Amino acid sequence: MKVVGFIGLGNMGLPMALNLSKKSIHVKAYDLSDEAKENALDAGLNVLNSVHDVLIDIDALITMLPNDAAVEDVFLRNGALDSLEKTTLIIDCSTISPGISKKVANEAHNKGLSMVDAPVSGGVKGAEEGTLSFIVGGNEQDVKKGSILFNVMGDNTFYAGNSGSGQIAKLCNNMLLAIHMCGTAETLAMGVKNGLDPIVLSEIMKNSSGGNWSLEKYNPFPDVMEGAPASNNYNGGFLNALMLKDLRLAEQLSDHSKSYTPMGKLARKLYEQLNDEGLGGLDFSSIQKNYLK
Ligand code: NAD
Repeated sequence: MKVVGFIGLGNMGLPMALNLSKKSIHVKAYDLSDEAKENALDAGLNVLNSVHDVLIDIDALITMLPNDAAVEDVFLRNGALDSLEKTTLIIDCSTISPGISKKVANEAHNKGLSMVDAPVSGGVKGAEEGTLSFIVGGNEQDVKKGSILFNVMGDNTFYAGNSGSGQIAKLCNNMLLAIHMCGTAETLAMGVKNGLDPIVLSEIMKNSSGGNWSLEKYNPFPDVMEGAPASNNYNGGFLNALMLKDLRLAEQLSDHSKSYTPMGKLARKLYEQLNDEGLGGLDFSSIQKNYLK
């Protein structure tokens, strides 16, 4: 894997592409937005003028795009699948619906191409530090081929199953994350409204049966945990708008599979409310605000 195409140079894609180039992998980069292209140029990447310029003579193509429409745009409407050489491995790291992920992978397979879905966990910090977790779906041999790149951009690679499975696992994880974040914020607020110190209550629950990732690593109550977005006015981290996107995708998946997910649906409503209040640009632990009114 010496030459890699990289499409989507936003908050996640740019640091991921830079980590590849730091390991002497030649990155041919592209983004639709002029601002993203300029940032990538300033950071030293080789930025090209179109999707098609990126597709020539590459060993792998990585996409890190915001949603279903952008992935369909690049692969189906822009005809990327017709231009790629058959030896190029396609790795889509965007978080999108498993249905669209499978559809694009099927189209790729029909054209003799290899494609895996590899959404990530770890946020912008993980992308910058090269400590992401890749949750991968597709043919196991293709996943092994991609692992050289996953190991440069991250610390962990999990094989979830066939095409689309990476997306399903990622959506299950993020639905659970939203549920325990809401539960953590809810209980902290109740304790505080009844006179408890949030630091003391957090310590008790963290070390008791209520312990969970949100309490241990990402406390949503202001000034309880140093370095957490809650102690920085909910700036940075994982945006409410992205959590809402993932919860909507999870709900589609739930409805499609006739799964019973009342807590996932409630979490979607709570995050919708936060976004409707204009707080889409804050970290997702700001759900705490709803409980402190
Ligand atoms: P972003 O909006 O910062 O970046 C997306 C980039 O894609 C933008 O620069 C945009 O211009 C570009 N783009 C959109 N359509 C395009 C097209 N048709 N052709 C070329 N470029 C196009 O988003 P992000 O935060 O980097 O997230 C990317 C993906 O990673 C999303 O699916 C998101 O859900 C997922 N994700 C994000 C985080 C996070 O903390 N930000 C964490 C895990 C996963």
